[in-house]
Amino acid sequence: MKIDLVSEHASPLAALGGVDAGGQNAHVAELATGLARRGHDVVVCTRRDDASLPHRVGTAAGFVVEHVTAGPAEPVPKDDLLPHMGEFGDRLAERWAADRPDLVHAHFWMSGLAAQRGAAGAGVPVLQTFHALGRVKRRHQGDKDTSPPQRIELEADIALGADKVVATCSDEVAELAEMGLPAERTAVVPCGIDLERFRPGPGGGPPNTHPKILCIGRLVERKGIDIVIRALRRIPGAELLIAGGPPGPRWHRDPEVRRLQEVAERAGVADRTTFLGQVDHERTPQLYRSVDVVVSTPWYEPFGTVPVEAMACGTPPVVSAVGGHLDTVVDGHNGVHVPPHSPAAVAQAVREVLARPRWRAELGAAGVAWARAHYGWNKLVRETEAVYRQVLAAPVVLGGGAT
Ligand code: UDP
Repeated sequence: MKIDLVSEHASPLAALGGVDAGGQNAHVAELATGLARRGHDVVVCTRRDDASLPHRVGTAAGFVVEHVTAGPAEPVPKDDLLPHMGEFGDRLAERWAADRPDLVHAHFWMSGLAAQRGAAGAGVPVLQTFHALGRVKRRHQGDKDTSPPQRIELEADIALGADKVVATCSDEVAELAEMGLPAERTAVVPCGIDLERFRPGPGGGPPNTHPKILCIGRLVERKGIDIVIRALRRIPGAELLIAGGPPGPRWHRDPEVRRLQEVAERAGVADRTTFLGQVDHERTPQLYRSVDVVVSTPWYEPFGTVPVEAMACGTPPVVSAVGGHLDTVVDGHNGVHVPPHSPAAVAQAVREVLARPRWRAELGAAGVAWARAHYGWNKLVRETEAVYRQVLAAPVVLGGGAT
């Protein structure tokens, strides 16, 4: 198949180059790599954010990245990109009129907007993966949500205008249903992890003299790390390691790090809370293996890679029962669910996991088997390809849409 992936703000080249890149960059890079490996002709269209970038870049992974000129050829914050999506869509329309792909798969809502505008004339089917939904973000973040105000309404149009929405978890399918999208127009393909790297093994250091708990991720309020710090008060003797924040020595000036340090001071657990700063992704498997339990208690989570990485390394996760966690973590089998916003529930669950080593080992072993069965990229690329074939075999007749 000739497949164009559209990823307006997240270039896969950032992920391949190993520089600081978000989840969408890595997702698009893995998907493009896997599809190219399976013999498809894959082009990723991303916004030109640097005037010196060549128009087309061939990658060693076998796919091509095409830089689309839309707005200034310089970095623009994601929340300011919407005014340039019309131009992005017009450039895509030119590209697809000259060289029609079999299908287009857009990543993030703004890519969907541009892709549906670009594909309308050429009649190319468009699939959509949102990665995150504005209505969920707004529900939890309220006024702190910096997305453009039109996002929620436009996302509903994009969902209805797509031939298929490829959601990353079943909770997202429920949200899409509330947005008016029938279940048959959705498919679920979760996010993947690198199973070669994330696997059980030695932690790399001396055996722990006291229980260790890990929180790892972007240090933003909605990730709920303060909840785990407050729980630590009720987990005597344990150390909490917190990985994340800006790269390099800048991390300790980060306002969220400061806020979390204050939470630790006030809770009287600062001496048992260690901030590691941002840990190189290559080193994270060892970190997961070196701790007894991983805790991830965001307010909401579109997918949540961290618990899956933890499981793949054999360390049980304690997670808030929200979003993607409801699919990835089976309560009592390969991890533990707790309600969001509850330090008491986190403390109780962690104490139990720490107090029962045999159960902890069983959770760990079940997690390894579960992660290997469900979250390898090879499998997920094949599942995505199956959705593509389904769309090509039975195109949907759409009314309206986001064009
Ligand atoms: N991560 C990392 N080093 C850090 C903090 C986080 O490599 O210091 C990685 C982590 O291993 C995971 C990703 O960042 O792969 C976070 O993904 P998740 O889906 O949990 O959250 P997101 O940031 O996408 O909201």
